[in-house]
Amino acid sequence: MIESPLLPRIAGYIGGQWSEGSARPITVTNPANGEVLAEFPGMGENETLEAVRAAEGALVERASLEKRREWLLKIDEALRANREEIGRILTMEHGKPWAEAQGEVDYAAGFFRYCGEHIDELGPRTLEEHPKNCTWTVYQRPAGVVALSTPWNFPIGMIAKKLSAALAADCASVIKPSSKTPLTMIALFALMDRELDLPAGKVNLVMGSAGAISDTLLKHPSVRVFSFTGSTEVGRELIEKSAAGVKRLTLELGGNAPFLVFDDADLDAAADNLMANKFRGGGQTCVCANRIFVHERVAEAFAQKVADRVAKLRVGDGLQEGVTIGPLIDENAVDKVRRHVNDAVNKGAKKVAEGDAADLPGTFYPPTVLLDVPGDALCTVEETFGPLVPMITFRDDDEVVAAANDTDYGLASYVFTGDRERGRRVIERLQFAHAALNSGTGPTPEAPFGGMKQSGFGREGGIEGLFEFVETQTVPEAD
Ligand code: NAP
Repeated sequence: MIESPLLPRIAGYIGGQWSEGSARPITVTNPANGEVLAEFPGMGENETLEAVRAAEGALVERASLEKRREWLLKIDEALRANREEIGRILTMEHGKPWAEAQGEVDYAAGFFRYCGEHIDELGPRTLEEHPKNCTWTVYQRPAGVVALSTPWNFPIGMIAKKLSAALAADCASVIKPSSKTPLTMIALFALMDRELDLPAGKVNLVMGSAGAISDTLLKHPSVRVFSFTGSTEVGRELIEKSAAGVKRLTLELGGNAPFLVFDDADLDAAADNLMANKFRGGGQTCVCANRIFVHERVAEAFAQKVADRVAKLRVGDGLQEGVTIGPLIDENAVDKVRRHVNDAVNKGAKKVAEGDAADLPGTFYPPTVLLDVPGDALCTVEETFGPLVPMITFRDDDEVVAAANDTDYGLASYVFTGDRERGRRVIERLQFAHAALNSGTGPTPEAPFGGMKQSGFGREGGIEGLFEFVETQTVPEAD
């Protein structure tokens, strides 16, 4: 069982108090070794209704921009001061290496800092014009109670994106983390409970059956925004269920990121960037390159460079010194990668590298590189969400742009070429909301991030993200 000063209670948090559930228990295990970290009663409809009532209560008092800035900057500070311990909890329940987990804590802190530093953008704006003999003022009001539902792959990063903007807007939140990784969220609540003077009910934590909790939130008239990060399948369900109450949705859904390497690219830089991008979180991020398109003239050379780098990866328990890639979240995740590798190999792909994950006790899959993957392989259609690098060769720009866009998803993409103008022309034609040139970087707190097509809608991060939880109210006042 896990023990930590940041886990004084392993429970939900409603109306400013730790709160036990009464529904089916949640068991959290360490994917690196299968050990049970925690077991506690989950929550359901009753607790969710209680959390919404507490949030309604917290909305009665409005907080000034100054007060909200203070809260946001305090959370930033508290996260950075506790990065090692939060990182340790995160590694134990998710599996990613400890250094990477601490990097995620810094990333999360950055969202609170950014919102705190830019909160003045949410202040009232008076128009210079006086149409209809009135002075017009535009206010950004809190949208109301907001529901924030997050996945397991970034246990602190994903909630930071949502909660920072919700607090900036002065909303009250009901938060539901993934049952696979709730402990990092509990640690965040312990910090907020200890170090902030938030009104009771401003932030509430419910953990348990996803369907029961989400349905209750979607049916409740006070819940005005449902912000969700997770799979496109669940996102689609939420769209249907939110129709009756005409809820506003923010959906950050699945990806199928293309990574384009042209024949004039710096192959070493492209390989380094691919390694940093692809193996983050064991390949389990929505922005991980999922289809690697390499020009046929450089395909063998590029595959060799990636294979050399893969040979240096060390697979293992993320808390062990020197480990660079951890386990996958569970057995289902391992099965999916295995299915994708077998399918591609059966269709003619060549295995050019395979790491070593033998004799490890948890849910591991070795990092694997495949060359000559055919365009109809499963791994080009579905998000693999694991440490597989499938390389597909191409001949010219038009062909690769069409192939990259040939997916229902539109989240992240990456282009590597020695000719920046060519890169910009290609990017203009890519239907992906994040399109990096000669860089494998994913999002940052200072810039908006979200999806096109079936990767969702809404933006998190940057000034755009700051406006996700406000309602604009326009007040014309007779001159
Ligand atoms: P998921 O299965 O959709 O789960 C996400 C959240 O929804 C979890 O809290 C989950 O709770 C809950 N949930 C599950 N089924 C539900 C249902 N029927 N109704 C309401 N809520 C439900 O996704 P995941 O496997 O955790 O995460 C991986 C996916 O997230 C990938 O597709 C990835 O690309 C995507 N993602 C997207 C972004 C982005 O920014 N676009 C970022 C990260 C991840 P339980 O876990 O308790 O069941």
